[in-house]
Amino acid sequence: MRTTQYLLATLREDPSDAELISHKLMLRAGLIRKQASGLYTWLPTGLKVLRKVEQIVREEMDATGASEVLMPMVQSADLWEESGRWGDFGPELLRIKDRHHRDFCLGPTHEEVITAMIRDEIRSYKQCPAVYYQIQSKFRDEVRPRFGVMRAREFLMKDAYSFHTSEESLEETYQVMYQAYSNIFNRLGLEFRAVIADTGAIGGSTSHEFHVLADSGEDAIAFSTGSDYAANVEKAEAIAPSETVPNASQEMEKIATPDAKTIDQVSQQLGMPNTQCLKTLIVKGSSETQPVVAICLRGDHELNELKVEKHELVAAPLEMASDEIIKQTTGANPGSIGPVNLNIPMLVDRDAAVMADFSCGANEDGFHFVGVNWGRDATIGEVFDCRNIVEGDTSPDGKGTLEVKRGIEVGHIFQLGTKYSEAMKANVLSENGKSVTLTMGCYGIGVSRIVAAAIEQNHDDYGIIWPDAIAPFQVAIVPMNMHRSHRVAEHAEKLYQALTEAGFEVLFDDRKERPGVMFADIELIGVPHRIVISERGIDAGNYEYKHRRHNDKIDVEIDNALTFLK
Ligand code: ATP
Ligand code: MG
Ligand code: MG
Ligand code: MG
Repeated sequence: MRTTQYLLATLREDPSDAELISHKLMLRAGLIRKQASGLYTWLPTGLKVLRKVEQIVREEMDATGASEVLMPMVQSADLWEESGRWGDFGPELLRIKDRHHRDFCLGPTHEEVITAMIRDEIRSYKQCPAVYYQIQSKFRDEVRPRFGVMRAREFLMKDAYSFHTSEESLEETYQVMYQAYSNIFNRLGLEFRAVIADTGAIGGSTSHEFHVLADSGEDAIAFSTGSDYAANVEKAEAIAPSETVPNASQEMEKIATPDAKTIDQVSQQLGMPNTQCLKTLIVKGSSETQPVVAICLRGDHELNELKVEKHELVAAPLEMASDEIIKQTTGANPGSIGPVNLNIPMLVDRDAAVMADFSCGANEDGFHFVGVNWGRDATIGEVFDCRNIVEGDTSPDGKGTLEVKRGIEVGHIFQLGTKYSEAMKANVLSENGKSVTLTMGCYGIGVSRIVAAAIEQNHDDYGIIWPDAIAPFQVAIVPMNMHRSHRVAEHAEKLYQALTEAGFEVLFDDRKERPGVMFADIELIGVPHRIVISERGIDAGNYEYKHRRHNDKIDVEIDNALTFLK
């Protein structure tokens, strides 16, 4: 590729609206441009990288025996009614209407569509396990799109789904996917860890996330120093008290809308007695505070809007966190606690035993807490052993202590069971002729997020340093003053041709630019190998070689340049 015929689109200045280094560099290196909040155009260089990531993912998926399909991005509400998610999904689902006023949504994920397809196409146990995947744009109306393509609204995902007639078969495919994911992140050249996705599922986990390790990661992950134990400490300090908490679960129950400002309004909206809207939180202050019980509402982040009239936190021992303690400590009947006294932006999975390290707080300065754990529904009257995962804790498997690092979630695999297949009646005939409900797994990879994650892990002050496997170009040719020197131009053209023929992707900087400008651009874009051609070098029989990761420059004999790069 000649730079004169190519959209380099590099920027000198740091874009003011980008906080994360990968976001800045993706804009500066001309990889992406913002169209609107959470929506990006991939420019040529960015698209080259994205396609490389995609191809590695595709090859490893194909190697598992999964078949590629392509499902529609626009999905009919009817399917979502069948699964029950049309009502449940919450505001991340972008709902649209066609000209006939029929309801549709932009697919945030494709369980419904694939389950409908399987229901129609797969009839017999002999066709199982049935494993399909696609690489496609997803849309999620994220409450806070940010960090560029890291948390976009439209983004590229690889999503795979498997269907089985037995648990064993599901577990087998799950293991195959786990291995495929490890292969993918190894091939991408990224430092990653697979972690148990839900700390509530410590015993017998059915879900793993794959994290690229980076200090800027939104998730906290706990590693044991004494074993392979690693788990996600759900969304910790990333959430400042005044911010909303991202969707913690799709298993949520009903949600109240932001105009519900009191517990009574919430209970009215949810159609349940207000005792059931109460949750008990075990709140731990930063370090020295005693465990305290606080009252909050179940709801999703929209309840963040809930206005607090009065702050009320009461100290109580963990085991007393029940209706009784609410009564004792606040003097109120749990059923009649009003004006609600906490502003807790939170959506909680009723079944999740532990969701460590949320932040919460009242609308009152000095009453914000980090490291909040979720207890169980106060109305059930039972409290889990809720504790913060903090550095130095004993690992749950008893081996070693926990170390906490930050990670970027780039993949997530899940044993779903029969949630969708049951609701949508995806059955097959078993060996003995009986109809059985299929058991399902799903497996996602954030293809576009990987590009940003790779940059978070691989950059310096000058720009991106691509892992070889996903570099947009392998070699850059930088000729010195080739518009004034015939000799330099001739050598550059010849080398460009030879390298291209040898299968290299070459960026040939044939602009009339000062060397400094060219070097800066090539470094910013992160091309791994750079060849400089100059009069002086040619006189000495050499080109100058430099690797993006190293500082030293090496003279390479002109005739050996090709073999050197190979
Ligand atoms: P997150 O916790 O970051 O919101 P998620 O758990 O909601 O992600 P999944 O439903 O597990 O996401 O989707 C599979 C993968 O898709 C994630 O592991 C992540 O890599 C990617 N992904 C999810 N949301 C986004 C987004 N808004 N922008 C880019 N990639 C995303
Ligand atoms: Mg999410
Ligand atoms: Mg997640
Ligand atoms: Mg996930």
